[in-house]
Amino acid sequence: MEVKALQSCVEGKVTTATDAGYENLRRELIWNQLTPARYPQLVVQVATEHDVVEAVRFARANRLKIAVRGGGHSWVGFALRDDSLLLDLGRLTQVSIDHAARTAAIQPAVTARDLNRRLAAQGLAFPVGHCPTVSLSGFLLNGGLGWNFNGWKPACFSIEAAHVVTADGNLVVANEQQNADLLWAIRGAGPGFFGIVTQYVLKLYPVPGAITTSNYYYPLQCATEVGAWAASIAGRLPKEGELTIFFAPAPPTLAERCRSSNGFVCIVSATAFVDTKSEATAALGLLESCPVAHTCLEKELNRPTPIDALFDLGNMLWPERHRYLADTLWSNSPPATVLGTLREHFLRAPSAKSLAVFAFSTGAEGNTAPLPDEAFSMTARALLLCYAIWERPEDDAANAAWHRETITALDPFAVGHYVGESDIVADAARAQRSFANANWQRLQALRQQYDPEGLFHGHFSALKL
Ligand SMILES: Cc1cc2nc3c(=O)[nH]c(=O)nc-3n(C[C@H](O)[C@H](O)[C@H](O)COP(=O)(O)OP(=O)(O)OC[C@H]3O[C@@H](n4cnc5c(N)ncnc54)[C@H](O)[C@@H]3O)c2cc1C
Repeated sequence: MEVKALQSCVEGKVTTATDAGYENLRRELIWNQLTPARYPQLVVQVATEHDVVEAVRFARANRLKIAVRGGGHSWVGFALRDDSLLLDLGRLTQVSIDHAARTAAIQPAVTARDLNRRLAAQGLAFPVGHCPTVSLSGFLLNGGLGWNFNGWKPACFSIEAAHVVTADGNLVVANEQQNADLLWAIRGAGPGFFGIVTQYVLKLYPVPGAITTSNYYYPLQCATEVGAWAASIAGRLPKEGELTIFFAPAPPTLAERCRSSNGFVCIVSATAFVDTKSEATAALGLLESCPVAHTCLEKELNRPTPIDALFDLGNMLWPERHRYLADTLWSNSPPATVLGTLREHFLRAPSAKSLAVFAFSTGAEGNTAPLPDEAFSMTARALLLCYAIWERPEDDAANAAWHRETITALDPFAVGHYVGESDIVADAARAQRSFANANWQRLQALRQQYDPEGLFHGHFSALKL
C-alpha cells in the first residue's frame, strides 16, 4: 500500500497505525471518553473536497473499507472501525450564507454554535443540535433533532442539496433534480449512509423574536404526576415549542433536598420559539397548571433564551470529557408509566451525573402527523433518551450494568429508536427499528445500487466497545 503516494496527493494529513501520535489522534477524534477498542489502519484528515475524492480512490484501489468522521460526537464512536481508512472531515468548516435566498452552503464539520452565531448575526436560524459542539455532519444525516424540532421539523427536512463523494470516487450533486434518491437517503440514513457528504445546502428560517424558556424543578418523587400532567398540556403548547422532562443532577441549591432521590431532580423545561413576549408568556403560563405545583422546589420563569443561551443548558447536562453510554426510544406509552420505571432506576444509578430526557411533541398534531417521504421515518408522541455519564474508568462496569438494566426495563415502551443516539453497537437491530419498514428496505436497495462492493461501512457490523 503506497501511503506516501496518498500523502503526496492530498493537502491534509495521513497517519498510519504505526506512526507516533496515532493513539492520541485516535482518541482525540472521539468526543466520548469511553473510546472504543477499534483501530483504523489509516487516518486521513482531509483539508479539501478534492482530498476526499483522492482518499476514496485510494481506499478502492487498496481494498480498504471506509469509515467517516464529521465531528466525532457519535456516542458509540461510530467512526472508529477496525482495519479501515478513516476519513476525518473535521477541518471542513466553511460556511457561506445567502441571505436573500435564505440558504447556507456549509461544509460538514461546522458546529452548532458556529453556524448559529453566523446565522443569528443576520437574523436567521436553523434547527441546530442542542449542544454547541455537535457538528452538522452526522447530526443532519441522522435526522437532526435540533432546537425547535417540533416547529422546524427534524433538521434533515431542511437539507435542500448536498455534495457527495460516492463509492466510485466521483463528486456528485444531490438535489431534487439530480440524484434525488441520494438526497432522499441523506435526509435521515444516519451512520449507514453509503457516501461522503462534503457540503450541505440548508434552508434557513427567520430568528423568532422572543425565544423564551421556563424551568420548574420538582422532586423526583413527583415525576409520574408531573409526567401525566405534562402529556395533557403538550398538545396545547405551540407547535413552535419544546416541552421536556429531565431527570438530572440537582443544582447545588437543591442538592440537600434531593439527597433522598439519589441526588436527582425532575425538571420540566419548556421553550417557546415565538415572536412576541406576550405570546411566549401566554404559552408558558400553561406550566402553572400542574396539579402538584405546590411541591415545586424552584422555578425560573420566562427567561429570554436566544439559541446561543440555550446551549448553556446543553453544556451543563452533557459535560465535556466524560464517559457516556446512550440510548433512545420513541414511545407512545403513558408518560407516567415510562417515567415511573425510569425513576426506579435513577434511584439506584451509580453515577450522580447521569441523565434522562423525555421530550414531548408539542402542538395539536404532535409528532404523529405524517412525515414527508424521506429516509427519516420513525417518530412517536415522545422521545426518551437515557445516558449513563461518569468520569473514572474504574466505574465503567457499574455504569454499563446500570445502563443495560435501565434500557432493558424501558424497551417494552418503545415503538422504535433514533439512529443518531441509539446504541446500535450493543443491539444492531436498533438501526432497522429506527426506520419505517419500507424506508429501511429502500435504503438497503440504494446502498446496493450506490455501493455494490460495500466500500463504506454500513449500520450493521460486528462492532464491540
Ligand atoms: C453532546 C451531544 C449532544 C447531542 N445532541 C443532539 C441533538 O440535540 N440532537 C440530535 O439529533 N443528536 C444529538 N447528538 C447526536 C449527534 O447527532 C450524533 O452524535 C452525530 O453523529 C454527531 O455528528 P458527528 O459529525 O459529530 O458524528 P461522527 O461521530 O463524526 O460520525 C458518526 C458517523 O456518521 C457518519 N457521518 C458523519 N458525517 C458524515 C458525512 N459527512 N458523510 C458521510 N457520513 C458521515 C459516519 O458513518 C460516521 O462514522 C448529540 C451528541 C452529543 C455527543
